[in-house]
Amino acid sequence: MTIVAGMDIGSTTAKCVVLEGQRVLGKSLSPVGVDIVKDAERALEAALADSGIARSEVSFITGTGYGRYKVYFGQLVVTEISCHARGAHFLFPGTRVVVDIGGQDTKAIRVNEKGEVVDFSMNDKCAAGTGRFLEVCANALGFDIGEIGALSLQAKRPMRVTSTCTVFAESEVASYVSRGKDPKDILAGLHASIANRTLSLMQRVGIEPEVTFTGGVSQNGGMVRALNRRLGASVNVSPLSQYMGALGAALHGQERQAGGAS
Ligand code: ADP
Repeated sequence: MTIVAGMDIGSTTAKCVVLEGQRVLGKSLSPVGVDIVKDAERALEAALADSGIARSEVSFITGTGYGRYKVYFGQLVVTEISCHARGAHFLFPGTRVVVDIGGQDTKAIRVNEKGEVVDFSMNDKCAAGTGRFLEVCANALGFDIGEIGALSLQAKRPMRVTSTCTVFAESEVASYVSRGKDPKDILAGLHASIANRTLSLMQRVGIEPEVTFTGGVSQNGGMVRALNRRLGASVNVSPLSQYMGALGAALHGQERQAGGAS
């Protein structure tokens, strides 16, 4: 069976998945800096090391994400919208809507029963509602991005956060802190405010079960619960959710190699 790699070079992180048939052999997650070409090469090397295979064993490489044209050593380039749709459909075949919340943008993608994109809507104009928004607010409260989801789940009296702009939300957070409000309650309010924004984006493409949550912010359990509450249903999440674009890219590569239309 042939081995392929999918590379998602995002605005903040590079993800690489190595796939043999339907089996993920290995993966990598690393930061993206100013030298995107080098970052892409490093991401591939790290995923190969994780898979325990040599580069010569990989027969096809597909690039996606904001920096996809920097994967110059690849054979195919596909948009991240198409890759998130394909990856989500592979892991959760009942997926009809994909919500991807990444470092700097948020997308709602409606897919058909084959995992093809039917419609999409995107917020990439400002950081509001993205991972960056949560990072700024986490910083303002003195927490790490990896801690805030779990803390928000312990809230007793969630605050109402009304600012949608990142800069205003940061000062709203500071004002709550100075009034002695519990950071957990502030965090719950911030997560709820992103869930509201995300729901509006989803409404533009039409909400239909099943919904699959992808992108780095899907690792945040507080965000998963806030979205579930707002939707009134449970979204699909997987430990591979942040790698969904890379996985979808690898799947597109398999299809292209097999002579398909990817
Ligand atoms: P991009 O493709 O735009 O680079 P990703 O989909 O990789 O973005 O998501 C990156 C974002 O995910 C980070 O900015 C961060 O906010 C968030 N993130 C990543 N891991 C976690 C985690 N464990 N808990 C909470 N948020 C996380």
